[in-house]
Amino acid sequence: MDLFEYQAKQLFAEYGVPVPQGKVASTAAEARAIADEFAAAGKQRVVVKAQVKTGGRGKAGGVKVADGPEDAQAKAEQILGMDIKGHTVHRVLVEEASDIAEEYYFSFLLDRANRTFLSICSAEGGVEIEEVAETNPDAVAKIAIDPLTGAPADVAAEIAKAGKLPETAAAGAAEVITKLWDAFVGKDATLVEVNPLILTSDGRVIALDGKVTLDANAEFRQDLDSLAVAEEGDPLEVKAKEKGLNYVKLDGQVGIIGNGAGLVMSTLDVVAYAGEEHGGVKPANFLDIGGGASAEVMANGLEIILGDPAVESVFVNVFGGITACDAVANGIVQALELLEGRGDDVSKPLVVRLDGNNAELGRQILTERAHPAVRQVDTMDGAAAQAAELAAK
Ligand code: GDP
Ligand code: MN
Repeated sequence: MDLFEYQAKQLFAEYGVPVPQGKVASTAAEARAIADEFAAAGKQRVVVKAQVKTGGRGKAGGVKVADGPEDAQAKAEQILGMDIKGHTVHRVLVEEASDIAEEYYFSFLLDRANRTFLSICSAEGGVEIEEVAETNPDAVAKIAIDPLTGAPADVAAEIAKAGKLPETAAAGAAEVITKLWDAFVGKDATLVEVNPLILTSDGRVIALDGKVTLDANAEFRQDLDSLAVAEEGDPLEVKAKEKGLNYVKLDGQVGIIGNGAGLVMSTLDVVAYAGEEHGGVKPANFLDIGGGASAEVMANGLEIILGDPAVESVFVNVFGGITACDAVANGIVQALELLEGRGDDVSKPLVVRLDGNNAELGRQILTERAHPAVRQVDTMDGAAAQAAELAAK
């Protein structure tokens, strides 16, 4: 789960990482009121920052320095409602402006490939670190972190040195690094990124930006609900979550239902591949209904997928295991009856591929039911091709 910058900074502050003071506004008038408070405290200049969960806000015009409350209101008006890489700006963070002497890069992340944690540090911050890593790899230090040792003072100092941070910033940066490690562990994060970590003209090191990803698997011991902002996310995803479904909205036309995350992932690939022959038809979603595949789960899944206006066809790809294909076939039949009984429209074509345990029996059940929307294809590639073709029509 990704946090907004303002949430990341609240978390940083909780762990003693210096951040600029600021508050969130959802209207330009609110932004002005916050800037008024800063002005009253002698801080005329503020920064108005789009709160969207994507990078490159600065480049897109979503980060603007304002000179006083009136200007802050005007800048907030420009930024609110802006579209940044497909994310609409609903909120802005209004912060005291910082006097930047230098910008650095720092992050902790889970390094799955090496089965450890990694710190990345560079004196060349503010810009995209991938770019620096490509054009000037020597400027980006990558240091593995032993999870048992973490990042106490000596390790943090080493990281700052490897990142070639100047003498003037080294001590301040090391302190920040140790605190960020505490936050990383304490909140079960998989990423804590500060870009830029700045040195101010009066010699302080502070986190000017913050990107944090928390591990959803740690939900049992972390309060993630309080960090979830309601109106964020796709409405279908919100609805799917309420129903306990493992659903991710994508921007294609072929609805996908499968059992098992691996099977669903490969189904997405196969459909995208088949779709190339039909003008670039793509999968419309990821949906793993897991084992079981009861009529209720199938009905919930179909309801969400058919509720997506972009969906033109649906591919149900099931490999029977502990839950055999006949049970899944019955689930599909009952799900269609359930939806039709409620008056839902189930006329979009449903391509079903059943394989594995009791496949024959499952296919027979669907053949006998002969629902007009359902057609069966025995192979995964064949079914993907047909679903893509139907979606293109
Ligand atoms: P991003 O573009 O989404 O990564 O947003 P950032 O929070 O990193 O801001 C982008 C850039 O805006 C920074 O690298 C800074 O150069 C600039 N910026 C942000 N806050 C301030 C500030 O308080 N003062 C000044 N002078 N520049 C700022
Ligand atoms: Mn940034």
